[in-house]
Amino acid sequence: MRAAVYRGVNDVRVESVPVPEIGPGEVLVKIHTCGICGTDLKKIHTGSHSAPRIFGHEMAGIVAAIGEGVSGFKIGDRVMAYHHIPCGECFYCRKHTFAQCETYKIVGCTAGFEPSGGGFAEYIRVMDWIVRRGLVKIPDDVSFEQASFIEPVNTCYKAIDLLKLQPDETVLVIGQGPIGILLAALARRTGATVLTSDLYPERHAIAAKFGLDHPLDARGDVVAAAKAATEGRGADVALVAVGGNSLIQVAMNAIRSGGRVMLFAATQHGEAPFDPAAVCMDEKTLMGSYSASVAIQDEVTRLVLDGYAKDFDLTQLISHRFSIEDAVAAIEMASNPQPDSMKIVIQP
Ligand SMILES: [Zn+2]
Ligand SMILES: [Zn+2]
Repeated sequence: MRAAVYRGVNDVRVESVPVPEIGPGEVLVKIHTCGICGTDLKKIHTGSHSAPRIFGHEMAGIVAAIGEGVSGFKIGDRVMAYHHIPCGECFYCRKHTFAQCETYKIVGCTAGFEPSGGGFAEYIRVMDWIVRRGLVKIPDDVSFEQASFIEPVNTCYKAIDLLKLQPDETVLVIGQGPIGILLAALARRTGATVLTSDLYPERHAIAAKFGLDHPLDARGDVVAAAKAATEGRGADVALVAVGGNSLIQVAMNAIRSGGRVMLFAATQHGEAPFDPAAVCMDEKTLMGSYSASVAIQDEVTRLVLDGYAKDFDLTQLISHRFSIEDAVAAIEMASNPQPDSMKIVIQP
């Protein structure tokens, strides 16, 4: 089969590799659509992980083979697969901080080499604990493209859940790439007022399809705009949905005393400036959310599958589709976002 193989920093090559073999309790899935996630790009560009690997984890496809003892699935079933599922029993699982569970950190889907998702390939092997708890059936009337958003929506839903938004609150979402729009759209569903900030009108136009009707030009004074929308107080919540640390201070300045800032794209360790008195004296909370949660899996599945025919058609976020042969170009485009590029998917 063909696969986009990570061979080292900034080095991904489309190669022929063996179709993965499956064992008892495992399932082989033929990938239809796999979205490119910012964390895939981070790994490719920083060399944070050893090579070779096959990345990709926002995936949906068709069951192509079934291992001994698998129940509940048959060849031909349409599915999406989570690549991380926690043990459910350890200290961190009991505290519902699933992303810190040691079992969660083991990747349960692979197209070969060190398991890393594998969605940038024609087939993936889904390991037994994922088959039991992280393989989700897709009804015939929902597209694979829509289903490929289940994992990223889960990560966004988890962040919004943690914020415990109230309908009388105002939320500022900084960054309107596909993840920023997802966060904003989910925040809006709580009844909160949502302000969205981005450099590009093209992105605000897509956000508007999700009912996001308070666009702010990021070149302007976003802090002043957040205050103007809240009787001078500042937003109750700011979500930072762009990488880099330069917007943390903007987000802190844009919220009221006692408000909270959620970091959603700060996936690289380092140091960032912030005002400690804003946390202490102004009682502002700086928080983060990472990866998905099994606790909300059913709600998220319903939202994405039922929303397809209603007001939550996420395929509107897809701007470019690439074949596996053009996976390198896909990764290149995702790494250099343009005003008209949103979610980029690979369709082997
Ligand atoms: Zn991801
Ligand atoms: Zn655990």
